[in-house]
Amino acid sequence: MNSSSDCTILHVDADGFFAGVEQALTPALRGRPVVTGAERGIIAAASYEAKDLGIKRGLQLHEARAIYPDLAVLPSDYETCSLYSRHLFSILRRFTPHVEEYSIDEAFADLHGCGKLMDCPLERVAEKLRDAVRTEMGLTVSVGVSLTKTLAKLCSKFRKPDGQTVLRREHLPVMLRRTPVGKVWGIGPSATAKLTARGVKTAHDFTLMESASVLKLLHKPGYETWLELQGRKVFKLELVPKTGYASMMKGHTFAPPSADRHLVFSEAMKNMAAALAKLRRHRHLAREIGLCLRLRDYSARVAAAALPALTAHDREAAPLLRRLFGELFLPGCDCRSTLVWLGGLVPEQNMQMDLFTDTPPRRLLGRLDRAVDRLNLRYGQGAVAHAALLDLQRKPRHPRDAAPERLALAPATARRRLAIPRMTLSNPV
Ligand SMILES: [Mg+2]
Repeated sequence: MNSSSDCTILHVDADGFFAGVEQALTPALRGRPVVTGAERGIIAAASYEAKDLGIKRGLQLHEARAIYPDLAVLPSDYETCSLYSRHLFSILRRFTPHVEEYSIDEAFADLHGCGKLMDCPLERVAEKLRDAVRTEMGLTVSVGVSLTKTLAKLCSKFRKPDGQTVLRREHLPVMLRRTPVGKVWGIGPSATAKLTARGVKTAHDFTLMESASVLKLLHKPGYETWLELQGRKVFKLELVPKTGYASMMKGHTFAPPSADRHLVFSEAMKNMAAALAKLRRHRHLAREIGLCLRLRDYSARVAAAALPALTAHDREAAPLLRRLFGELFLPGCDCRSTLVWLGGLVPEQNMQMDLFTDTPPRRLLGRLDRAVDRLNLRYGQGAVAHAALLDLQRKPRHPRDAAPERLALAPATARRRLAIPRMTLSNPV
């Protein structure tokens, strides 16, 4: 048995993902400080060039521009980033089928039992993964390989960006000695404060504590992290993607806040259409729809209503959304965001279609939705949309709304550049 045989957990983390995707798409942005989050006025992601200047996530845009006036500021493009995310995970699955998609730009994988792969040094495996991502996607990622998820996550952070660290059992103490305990995955600010108060400064100090004191101080979650740091596997990879959902929601904050009734309603409709498309994608039906309008002073007005039947059809939900909107909207009051949620979800296959719900008009609605979903998948979200969404054009133009110039990409992300004409269905409300 070699020293690598239990060192099988890999963690991959894309470097400055949202900003990195923009740089991958637009050669002119490479090597430049780039941030995303233009739509909210707060930085959501920063490229490493921006981070080097001290421009970090959470900073206000005007503060960032004061540091570097030429900063490239872009809106967050979740649609494109989720396509990139899928590509990243598909590359990882070429190495092993045991992959946990942890977030949009992070995943864990277990290399155990990957035969030939494990004959090649782990350093080489990590290099191959990084090379594939760089060549195929134009992105850099950082990779950690170690004995447990907690250690692998520590390793991927160790040499960032574009780095890799393989940590075998014999080198554990060296790594843990140079890691402040607060940097350990799962040790939050409150646990850090408790540990610091007891003189525990590094991850190594933490592993030297007695198990009983760890349990007493940090309870089971802290105890599990303590075990993982010693190379004892506790956290399993969650390989099965989520199949059951209790609710789904879509929200959007717009700037500047608006009291324009038509504009705010079209924002709510856009969220409803996106939430229902997601519901259909995951093959669920909803029992309830809810709406939340957040006002300029951050207070929220919320209401919900039961749908006439279990449904995933826009035309059945839209009249209810209009009614809820009528109850909540206060003329003259600025709204800053709308959020629509669908509740009481049931997987489609659990639903017995009965004589009363499976009517020809409802079947037509199903065909209509499927046709719209296919077009939107092909040409980009919103290529076919409710007529009510035309009112989104009432929004005053704001420099924050500028879409980045890009070369054509996969069809679903190229719509904005290709300027495919907008087709609309009749307004259902
Ligand atoms: Mg990342």
